[in-house]
Amino acid sequence: MVPGARLIVLGKQGAGKGTQCVRLSHHYVIPHISTGDMLRAAVKASTALGREARAYLESGGLIPDEIVLQMVGERLDQDDTRSRGFVLDGFPRTVLQADGLADLLAPAELDLALNLVVPTELVLLRLASRRVCDDCGAIYSTLAPPKVGSTCDVCGGEVLQRDDDTEAAIKTRLDLYDEMTAPLIEWYNAAGRLVEVDGVGTAEEVFDRLVDVVDSHQHGGDFTPPLATG
Ligand code: ADP
Repeated sequence: MVPGARLIVLGKQGAGKGTQCVRLSHHYVIPHISTGDMLRAAVKASTALGREARAYLESGGLIPDEIVLQMVGERLDQDDTRSRGFVLDGFPRTVLQADGLADLLAPAELDLALNLVVPTELVLLRLASRRVCDDCGAIYSTLAPPKVGSTCDVCGGEVLQRDDDTEAAIKTRLDLYDEMTAPLIEWYNAAGRLVEVDGVGTAEEVFDRLVDVVDSHQHGGDFTPPLATG
């Protein structure tokens, strides 16, 4: 079995993080931890966290750092992430979250921060056409819809446009990305963990690029400290 990995994927909304993180998770047998999916599930289940998060999600604003850090901390404390690692999707999104993540992982460290680079014109097109299964989160687009109507191919759930894929919320999210998340690229670069990956192309092409990067890093023996290979 391939060793685990501790990965984060950075990139603008619509850069393909969700699609690629699912694939990386299967390929490296590591849990996919998406803070957006966790928060949407909490809203749907109307938990205390979900009731607090709802307004932020709908407007495209960021959930306060301490709430997200606690949620991620609980998830990283579970056995599967301790033994195999993880691929984090949508987290960290602020320098404070990146600092918090380093504390949560210590003495272990992140292996790689993969930055999926896609021009803004293209992410705008992708977001406008994005459709998502309301039950399992599978991602479609108006160009590659489900096989039958709006029924999810994977789970039979309903495929919809996300509440925050409106023009106003997309603008808020992209502005917040530039302001709060883009500085993380320099942060991980300075830490020697950043790799930029071209996110333009088919999902398969982009995935192959990501695997090349992760494998060459792994074979360089740079993963610290070793994870259980279970
Ligand atoms: P996108 O990257 O397309 O905005 P996500 O599914 O990653 O989609 O996130 C959706 C929403 O969930 C964000 O707009 C924000 O409100 C909230 N969110 C997700 N992750 C975080 C995070 N790490 N910190 C704060 N808010 C978050």
